[in-house]
Amino acid sequence: MPRIIQKYGGSSVANIELIRAVARRAVAAKREGADVVVVLSAMRGETDRLIGLANEACPDPDPRELDSLLSTGEQTSVALFALACQALGEKVKSFLGHQAGIKTDDVHGKARILEINPARLKTELAKGRVCVVAGFQGQDRHGDVTTLGRGGSDTTAVALAVALEADVCEIYTDVEGIYTTDPHVCDSAQKMDKICYEEMLEMSSLGAKVMEIRSVELAMNYGVRIHVRHAHSQSTGTIICEEDADMERTPVRGVTHSVNEARITLLKVPDHPGVAATILSIVAKAGIIVDMIIQNHSEPPGTDAGGEGLWTDFSFTVPAADYENALDLMRAAGREIGAAEVLGDNNIAKVSIVGVGMRNHAGVATVMFQALAKEGINLSMISTSEIKISCVIEKKYAELAVRALHGAFKLGGPIHG
Ligand code: ADP
Ligand code: ASP
Ligand code: MG
Repeated sequence: MPRIIQKYGGSSVANIELIRAVARRAVAAKREGADVVVVLSAMRGETDRLIGLANEACPDPDPRELDSLLSTGEQTSVALFALACQALGEKVKSFLGHQAGIKTDDVHGKARILEINPARLKTELAKGRVCVVAGFQGQDRHGDVTTLGRGGSDTTAVALAVALEADVCEIYTDVEGIYTTDPHVCDSAQKMDKICYEEMLEMSSLGAKVMEIRSVELAMNYGVRIHVRHAHSQSTGTIICEEDADMERTPVRGVTHSVNEARITLLKVPDHPGVAATILSIVAKAGIIVDMIIQNHSEPPGTDAGGEGLWTDFSFTVPAADYENALDLMRAAGREIGAAEVLGDNNIAKVSIVGVGMRNHAGVATVMFQALAKEGINLSMISTSEIKISCVIEKKYAELAVRALHGAFKLGGPIHG
């Protein structure tokens, strides 16, 4: 008997009518003979609403209490979904994270799944029930509720697919699959039939929120086949799978952007071995993840003469949510290490191109930089890996840059693979 995990995102369960519609879809799969485990997000807007309430109640909400509050969004949707299945005459049971055996570490707000004991789900599946599991949540070793971070229901779904050895993990959302770029930003975005784990991993980490990054990591590590589809249409969607030869034929397969980053710059820092390590270790100790880093020789403070490498300007980017904290830390550190000035800029965006074909195509960066230059967009930072190039630009140009790059790499045409 095939075993299927079906995950429905918030927009797919935004009201009772939509819940009924996706319940019919799950029940149909069950009646066709599959074991079905459904993972749900909170109803659209509910997690944001709860965060708003928490901030009204307390300007700096305790992370444990916040998790306890946020988990109620998914608690509501699984119970409603189970009731909708019941109305269709199907045997069904809903489960909160801990009832589904999902154990996490105790980092509230961005907990990691440590293990899943699927015994109870297996028993209920064997009794012929549809199991409906609350996404985005688990339980730590103290017995407290934890949440996995925004978009975390995708991770719950993939982790359950691993634990239950499912044949496929279906991610149902509000678009037809994975596109060459966000279809809400670029009208000519094309749906791909398939994309490899590595490309999806880069696209997720560079701003394509359609799949949460940890879920892709997990799927790649365990070889889980993911099928991304529209929740309310029968179209074929996109398969996320191993790389194949077709995918290498095109240098660039996707364009992404992220406006959730900020840059910190320390000007005219005395340059000696260990200075970068000193700066970055302060940020790392605060649990802040640094992405791009640039270091340039600079003139000594107070002179017009060219520097001989004794002074340096040092810039790095951090998630926008950590901006204020990182800036405060660097202002304090800047005084200690003798920086002339510490600057912050949260008016930036990162625009990126991704494709495994970049490994064997030359000149990709030139096309990217020319396309941005043609629109008058200035690049302030650049970073590359084997299969991606990212540029930091002014935030107001983010969507224009996406459309320019999508056009420059001719992604609006028919997509193969
Ligand atoms: P869900 O609520 O189902 O989890 P999300 O809002 O998290 O859905 O993700 C779906 C959204 O991701 C789409 O509506 C789309 O705007 C956005 N998105 C960004 N990049 C892409 C892409 N390359 N392909 C498809 N969707 C994308
Ligand atoms: N409800 C959570 C969020 O809005 C988790 C999810 O939707 O995956 O981020
Ligand atoms: Mg999502």
